Amino acid sequence: MTFSIHGLAVTRGIAIGRAVLVASSRLDVAHYFIEPARVSAEIDRVRTARDTVAAEIRRLLSSIAQMGPHEAPQELAALMEVHLMLLQDEELIQGVKHWITDRLYNAEWALTTQLEVIARHFDDMEDDYLRERKADLEQITEKVLHAMRGVASPVMQPLRGGRKTTQPDLLLDDTVDVPLILVAHDLSPADMLQFKQSVFAGFITDVGGKTSHTAIVARSMDIPAVVGVRLCSHLIRQDDWVIIDGDAGVVVADPSPIILAEYGFRQRQGELDRSRLTRLLHTPAVTLDGQKIELLANIEMPEDTAAAIRAGAVGVGLFRSEFLFMGRHNKLPNEEEQYVAYRRTVEGMHGLPVTIRTIDIGADKPLDDDVHEDTHLNPALGLRAIRWSLSEPAMFLTQLRAVLRAAAHGQVYLLIPMLAHACEIRQTLALIDHARVQLDNRGTVYGDIKIGAMIEIPAAALTLKVFLKYFDFLSIGTNDLTQYTLAIDRADASVAHLYDPTHPAVLRLVASTIAEGQAAGKPVCVCGEMAGDVAMTRLLLGMGLRSFSMHPSQILAVKQELLRADTAKLAPWALQIVENDEPDTCDALPNGAKWR
Ligand code: PEP
Ligand code: MG
Repeated sequence: MTFSIHGLAVTRGIAIGRAVLVASSRLDVAHYFIEPARVSAEIDRVRTARDTVAAEIRRLLSSIAQMGPHEAPQELAALMEVHLMLLQDEELIQGVKHWITDRLYNAEWALTTQLEVIARHFDDMEDDYLRERKADLEQITEKVLHAMRGVASPVMQPLRGGRKTTQPDLLLDDTVDVPLILVAHDLSPADMLQFKQSVFAGFITDVGGKTSHTAIVARSMDIPAVVGVRLCSHLIRQDDWVIIDGDAGVVVADPSPIILAEYGFRQRQGELDRSRLTRLLHTPAVTLDGQKIELLANIEMPEDTAAAIRAGAVGVGLFRSEFLFMGRHNKLPNEEEQYVAYRRTVEGMHGLPVTIRTIDIGADKPLDDDVHEDTHLNPALGLRAIRWSLSEPAMFLTQLRAVLRAAAHGQVYLLIPMLAHACEIRQTLALIDHARVQLDNRGTVYGDIKIGAMIEIPAAALTLKVFLKYFDFLSIGTNDLTQYTLAIDRADASVAHLYDPTHPAVLRLVASTIAEGQAAGKPVCVCGEMAGDVAMTRLLLGMGLRSFSMHPSQILAVKQELLRADTAKLAPWALQIVENDEPDTCDALPNGAKWR
């Protein structure tokens, strides 16, 4: 039966595919595709593991039989029998074979997927006793997974390559080429990174906010995504057909043929619009009144520079370096590893400037999913970003040395996140000097860097003079500036309706930062999600902004917008918006359009 669920739109576009529910059970396992040649070996892995567990249970049963009723209760033997029966259940076996053979899932993924399918049947059972057998099924699945760990497993491959993500014949084609939609309760930024360049055509999560870091990585993957789709991971079943409408923030499950046809048409239309945009690739980013605009890229990993170059970015405005540190199980990258990554980034931009932001860990970006360092009362207000770096000076110095060394290979800008206090600024600058001294003492070559501050806490925007005194440039982080100005957790779907970057208070802080920065002759960029939102382009231009940093996929759309803009006409209009407590009531744009 067709049904739709509403969430928060993260990335534009339509995706249609089969649902893949990951990690929705408590059994969190690796998900990767195997080579077709490995199918029978993979099925053997499950079979061997299953046989091992069955043999173990039989051994247990025979030792129970030799014990008296006081040593081993009758129920235990009965339970073992149930486990044995479940292990040999045809539905489990055939299902696992199907996922491995037809979908090329790795053995662990196939097993947990089939567990989900069977668990649904148990959920629907009227009989309490039978319903509770679901827990037994989970237990034996866990045992088989455990046994599989002892069985030789191929080297884990990330989810990528080898599968088409284009739209096949939706109703007929059930081969490995079917596009897949990732459905999860939640995905950490580190999970998202693993899914980057994967085969997924889109993703949906139960929770999350529009500018949560998970959503940001999704945007950089440039696939349709909707977050905050409450209960989607419960309502959507494994392998259901699903449509993601990333423009409207709507998910349609089990669509009828007529709905599929309608969305299929819209999907093709969207693809056409995007391909038209590529014509602007070599058009200079200059407004109608001749203002040259800098369009920079936000990236998470060194390899993202390829997408930045392809989109025509004139540099990297924000390299979120923390992604190099995530999911490493407390084994943080050392100086050499970081240096190699930063150098690759610099070289990947072929002489264009690269802005490396120092590690911004904490809040919704824990270092490890299994390390709960963010269990403080209020992680977004806690030991995050520069606060964390200053509390770990050895780690911070390691990063600073690596960045300084990479600067010998190109233009590097260093960006410091979440500063609020003058004392934090002075400590940070002292540590940068100290890193230089350490490199000098070692005789290691390093380059010149420009140093900038992120303006993302209202306190920073309101005391800008001190930032202008110490820094070469500023970059406005509108995601956090909105979060901290409005006291809205950016990752919390339950207050997402109040997360509004166009709130007059936020707009005033953005406008005053741009104006004061310019008056002091210091470059100001916006690198929050606002910079890539075409609905905000003219307002930011009107405020005087000339440097925008965004996901590479957004660059051409923003360019299209600015090519039609006249900043001289936009300036008085923008002033009117910024000064108004109810900007919705302001005049239309100079071209007659409403501003949002
Ligand atoms: C911001 O806060 O706007 C920003 C760019 O940084 P991040 O989203 O990584 O916190
Ligand atoms: Mg930020």
